[in-house]
Amino acid sequence: MAVLKVALNPQQYRGKKWIDWCPGCGNFGILAAETQAFAELGLDPRRIVVVSGIGCSSRMPDFLNVNGVHTLHGRAIPYAMGIKLADPSLEVIVNGGDGDLLGIGVGHFVSAGRYNVDLTIILHNNGVYGLTKGQASPTLPRNVKTKALPKPNIKDAVNPIILALASGYTFVARAYAYDTRHLKDVIKEAIRHKGTALVDVLQPCPTYNDINTKEWYDKRVYKLDNEKWDPVVHDEKEANEKRLKAMEIASEWGDRIPVGIFYKNELVPIYEERMLSRISNYLELPPAKQVIEKDGYS
Ligand code: SF4
Repeated sequence: MAVLKVALNPQQYRGKKWIDWCPGCGNFGILAAETQAFAELGLDPRRIVVVSGIGCSSRMPDFLNVNGVHTLHGRAIPYAMGIKLADPSLEVIVNGGDGDLLGIGVGHFVSAGRYNVDLTIILHNNGVYGLTKGQASPTLPRNVKTKALPKPNIKDAVNPIILALASGYTFVARAYAYDTRHLKDVIKEAIRHKGTALVDVLQPCPTYNDINTKEWYDKRVYKLDNEKWDPVVHDEKEANEKRLKAMEIASEWGDRIPVGIFYKNELVPIYEERMLSRISNYLELPPAKQVIEKDGYS
């Protein structure tokens, strides 16, 4: 978590650039929820870094009044890990599309689970490559034909929740871009989580995906019942069993689509703590942290 708490409203985390997403794009809901989460957590904008790759969603750093890095296609995660390891006092967030993070960047997506660096990955999942006219992305199911495709999709889809669980992510959740209140709450939990957190956001693309529309999702999305499913791992012995159960719950896709927190395990040491076994004063090293202490923040 960032060291200094501030009292700002969500609008103060927004940049001044004109937002050029298409009208009705689900990215607007993610932007709104993310800035609300920043405000409610009292995060200091000077201590937030938003990192993105390439795609419509990767414009996020341009539209936020926080530090941002718009990197190469698929490479946002390693950039973010490097930034966090250079200064663990920063709040580091990745915003990326399904094409970016699960296509060209899938190796980094999988690898991140093994490190468990304390960062948050927000996946804008719309099933298409919106920036390049709507080609099928890795989350579009086989045999689905969106209006931009000449023929139905020939490839199978990857399930981001199951992939993250199999890769070792310690916080795995899904939310819906048009339910900004719930999305905001999930993003807050992901940021609070100590470890690598994934929030898979169902994000309609009204311009190119005419199948998974707002109307389509509105009929299907339902919230996980906290009475029936406790995603928190309380004892390492139950970690594997909970992970497998979370995968089973996440495999539901069709007439009903669950959203909420699938898995949360803070018993796994984060990479920053593992570094301490190699460099004993590692957490004291970052210059930015020293500046904060010098300025009298605590
Ligand atoms: Fe949003 Fe799709 Fe337009 Fe991209 S192409 S801005 S994802 S609606």
